[in-house]
Amino acid sequence: MFKILKQVSDYAKTSWQSAKYIGQGLSVTFDHLGRRPVTVQYPYEKVIPSERYRGRIHFEFDKCISCEVCVRVCPINLPVVDWEFEKVGKKKQKKLKHYSIDFGVCIFCGNCVEYCPTNCISMTEDYELASFDRHELNYDNVAMGRLPYKVTQDPMVTPLREFGYLPKGVTDPHDLPKGSLRAGCYPQDILEELEREKEENQDEQEASKN
Ligand code: SF4
Ligand code: SF4
Repeated sequence: MFKILKQVSDYAKTSWQSAKYIGQGLSVTFDHLGRRPVTVQYPYEKVIPSERYRGRIHFEFDKCISCEVCVRVCPINLPVVDWEFEKVGKKKQKKLKHYSIDFGVCIFCGNCVEYCPTNCISMTEDYELASFDRHELNYDNVAMGRLPYKVTQDPMVTPLREFGYLPKGVTDPHDLPKGSLRAGCYPQDILEELEREKEENQDEQEASKN
């Protein structure tokens, strides 16, 4: 008799717990029923990459001096700088023949861009590098010389603000009211603020000296 009562009690307990968990799951579902979808309909809609996004590298052949600094600062010595000596009068100087980076291996750390003395390489906002053959990701100087289409300038694409750039409390990047300000500051605003603070500190230090 006692055994049967225990079985009934366990069954009732398990049923109650199951009903509770189903209710919890459905409460999330019902909560979302009243919200608008925030799904980005790629490739018809694309999120605008942030200002300092490190995407595929752009290369300007004419500005490269074949110094190979980019190779030395690269954690995996990735850029291939193919150059030869060329005689100019009595002197010899480097002449760039080919330049390439394998984006299937690159970790997009940006070191090469940071240290290049002539700024001939730069990070772009291009993140669409999917390919069926990884060897196609080995870009030569011609492929790297192409600038990508900006998300904001592509007439085929509806640009959407990244979540970090939406106004405070907004999670849906669709149909934002015109002129709505984003929650954070632009890098330029932060730099100006820092500059102002620096000047104020200098003024205070000078005032305390006098
Ligand atoms: S660091 Fe810049 S200039 Fe020097 S080889 Fe690399 S890309 Fe060319
Ligand atoms: S981004 Fe980094 S990993 Fe890629 S080539 Fe430049 S230094 Fe090397």
